[in-house]
Amino acid sequence: MDRWQNRVAVISGASSGIGAACARLLVAAGLQVVGLARRTDRLEQLRQSLPAEQRMRFHQHKCDVSQELQVDTAFEWIEKELGGIDVLINNAGIVLGGQLIDMPTKDINNILQTNLMGSIYCTKLAASSMRRRQVAGHLIFVNSTAGVAGYKPDPADESLNAYTPSKFALTAVQEICRQELINQGSKIKTTSINPGWVATEIVPDETKAKLGEVILQADDVAQAVLYALSTPPHTQVEQITLRAVGEYF
Ligand code: NDP
Repeated sequence: MDRWQNRVAVISGASSGIGAACARLLVAAGLQVVGLARRTDRLEQLRQSLPAEQRMRFHQHKCDVSQELQVDTAFEWIEKELGGIDVLINNAGIVLGGQLIDMPTKDINNILQTNLMGSIYCTKLAASSMRRRQVAGHLIFVNSTAGVAGYKPDPADESLNAYTPSKFALTAVQEICRQELINQGSKIKTTSINPGWVATEIVPDETKAKLGEVILQADDVAQAVLYALSTPPHTQVEQITLRAVGEYF
């Protein structure tokens, strides 16, 4: 991780779960971390909980990633305060359950705006910052097993019906970014991390009860992010799929 010392990592959705776990690991690994989220009180709690010598490397900015103007404002602030972006972890995401063909369109829009468009807004600005400064940065997408070809939805659980298209689209976004960056002669890396169920706030209590111990922890996913980042400049980890041992779907 030597080459990332004091480099700037932006994590969307750092106020809880996987994003917060990534923030802890990256700050401890010596990066400057900017956490984006809507709940600034939770970002502040995270900052306060860090060891004192790491706290000054955690920065926070309120940002609803589904709103392009808010993303623009947050990234302008990062450029001004920290000089640019070297690593982006597109992690912010929501789940709204229901049957795709029957649920309110506004819920489907909300999922797509957050999980897909939010990642695209952040990716465009981060890639622009990296290319302008000629940095071989890293774009990481916290995707899902629901975004991987071959995913079979559980017919008894409709919580992911509208979420699944947002994550499938994210798989395409990562591959398109990879190809575009190669064509531009860029050394920026792209990685998708695809977890199965993880014990975080996004997962309903009844699902957690059903899964019992067959569930990943946020830190398991953060460790996969850290691994992808820690590879040498010539190595690109394209996909990591992680499931708890025994997870069926
Ligand atoms: P959490 O609910 O704990 O975290 C979600 C994070 O996203 C929060 O920090 C939340 O912050 C943020 N967020 C949501 N909407 C927005 C928004 N509009 N703007 C900015 N931030 C937003 O769940 P996880 O940690 O599990 O989720 C993180 C990612 O992992 C998601 O993309 C999810 O799809 C993915 N994932 C999760 C799995 C699981 O089983 N938990 C499995 C596979 C993938 P705030 O509310 O403060 O804005």
